[in-house]
Amino acid sequence: FLRLQAVSRRFGQVAALDAVDLAVPEGSRTAILGPSGSGKSTLLRIVGGFETPDSGRITLGGDLLAEGPRTVPAHLRGIGLVAQEGALFPHLSVADNIGFGLPRATPGREARIAVLLAMVELDPSMLRRRPDQLSGGQQQRVALARALARKPRLMLLDEPFSALDTGLRASTRKAVADLLAAEGITTILVTHDQAEALSFADQVVLLREGRLLQAGKPRDLYLQPRDTTVATFFGEAV
Ligand code: ATP
Ligand code: MG
Repeated sequence: FLRLQAVSRRFGQVAALDAVDLAVPEGSRTAILGPSGSGKSTLLRIVGGFETPDSGRITLGGDLLAEGPRTVPAHLRGIGLVAQEGALFPHLSVADNIGFGLPRATPGREARIAVLLAMVELDPSMLRRRPDQLSGGQQQRVALARALARKPRLMLLDEPFSALDTGLRASTRKAVADLLAAEGITTILVTHDQAEALSFADQVVLLREGRLLQAGKPRDLYLQPRDTTVATFFGEAV
């Protein structure tokens, strides 16, 4: 469904991504793990269309998204991205942030906004507020609801639960995972949390210094690490 072939991106001397090959089946859930600076966000931003690869090829459902630096614009990709820092439109209410991109005349627009708000466990009284009147965790949940509202064919989540406290994190993660599954949306989740990756994903990808070290089923990475780096990474954390 999503395919990356030899995708590379440098920032000066840093190889943020180094010839990454990745295949993500339709309807699947992939978790990307790796230390800080390993290229996780760069990978999501390139797939989402917010960053340009230097070389390599990206296709989604048969559509060519990028061939080296020639790329399809983000808004034409049908991809939802929730960034590490949930960037909401500061001048719009919560309701209009969630409904952004859904024409006002869309049947059931208000109801859909209400359902999405409930799914991320926010009170209906929040709908009229603006982002600066919300906590960081609440803003992150609005960003999640906004990304889901447009029913993307691919959802990219960059540590979307990191600002939430433990209880809310577990329940929001479950609600989001259930909704993505119910709507059959292919998802890639970046996380630092191995337990989160193992419980969420059917494919786990491990990055280090811009390279893809190993990709496979969670238990394969855990039981059959390709090398000692992978073993150490999982050994430390699980
Ligand atoms: P973290 O877990 O801390 O979020 P990450 O795995 O998401 O890290 P990236 O943000 O993808 O890492 O960064 C990969 C490398 O590319 C880092 O060395 C980073 O400093 C560098 N980098 C990323 N974006 C830029 C940029 N716009 N300009 C210069 N360097 C960048
Ligand atoms: Mg990052």
